[in-house]
Amino acid sequence: MSIITHRNNTKRVKVGELYIGGANEVIIQSMTTTKTHDIEATVEQINRLAKAGCQLVRVACLDETDAKALKEIKERITIPLVVDIHFDYRLALIAIEAGVDKIRINPGNIGNEEKVRQVVEAAKAKQVAIRIGVNAGSLEKNILQKYGKATPEGMVESAKFHVQILEELGFEDIIISLKASDTDLAIKAYELAAQTFSYPLHLGITEAGTVFSGTIKSSIGLGILLNQGIGNTMRVSLSADPVEEIKVAREILKNFGLIKNAPTLISCPTCGRIQYNLIPLAQRVEDYLTTIPHDIHVAVMGCAVNGPGEAKNADIGIAGGRGEGLLIKNGEIIRKVPEDQMFDTLVEEIQLLVKEREQQ
Ligand code: SF4
Repeated sequence: MSIITHRNNTKRVKVGELYIGGANEVIIQSMTTTKTHDIEATVEQINRLAKAGCQLVRVACLDETDAKALKEIKERITIPLVVDIHFDYRLALIAIEAGVDKIRINPGNIGNEEKVRQVVEAAKAKQVAIRIGVNAGSLEKNILQKYGKATPEGMVESAKFHVQILEELGFEDIIISLKASDTDLAIKAYELAAQTFSYPLHLGITEAGTVFSGTIKSSIGLGILLNQGIGNTMRVSLSADPVEEIKVAREILKNFGLIKNAPTLISCPTCGRIQYNLIPLAQRVEDYLTTIPHDIHVAVMGCAVNGPGEAKNADIGIAGGRGEGLLIKNGEIIRKVPEDQMFDTLVEEIQLLVKEREQQ
């Protein structure tokens, strides 16, 4: 696995117990799909997300009913809470008072200077970070007039406008996003932003699509940026259960060596040499591995001819054959396992490995 050197010369912004930026780490985040005022459903979803590896979660705050739910939500979750607010400075004040860790609000959209000042003073007092979220679909009119359409330059100019408002009030705990559904536009906007700002960047390809198309789009867009060392936190946006966003984000980061304690599944594509039903086994193993917080490599291979060789870099693996498979550990064939015991055997071996790792 290639380990890239990540851009770590950004400002470090504290969000709850986390720091975003200034390190060779990319924080994974997601957004709830529940009604925020439905506290039970929101807390349940956040806790599910946290279990899947989500490190930071955002909720929408549409009105006072949502804002009033934030305090209890915050008390019942274990990861930092971000609140997404559009325009209404009073909601921002309630959210900050409720103890949230970061708000996503564009200061230029709040209204008059006094309202902005109140939000900034409250955020400063409670050490709450602010994300400026520029979206290609909702750029300011004057910027659209100047550039004719959403462009990377226009998006960065919009971000500069909002950043300047905060900086003039002495506020610098800023994180910036420049999202677009057009992958190329988002990539170019983030590249320009990385040259322009020293604030951490929140990556995302917005409205990316379903699990299938959105995963591909996000992997391309975020992958190109991560490969250049750009991005300090990211959200994969999918039209799906948000837990899917976390799975995809972890998988993307794994490929860049930017995540700790994540297992890897190596499974062969199968070919004419296959003599057992590999695909359901690989799927079961992949699902099981989502519960294992260790850097373990597990191989599920299709045949005894090439399987052992192709699995030699895995910690543990199975190369299946007719009615049975070969158990492989660190490249060595250990023993034969009947086909109906292959999953359970792999699980036992993975658990042994986890124990060994935990004792080291
Ligand atoms: Fe084909 Fe065997 Fe390689 Fe799988 S491991 S792709 S079945 S040769």
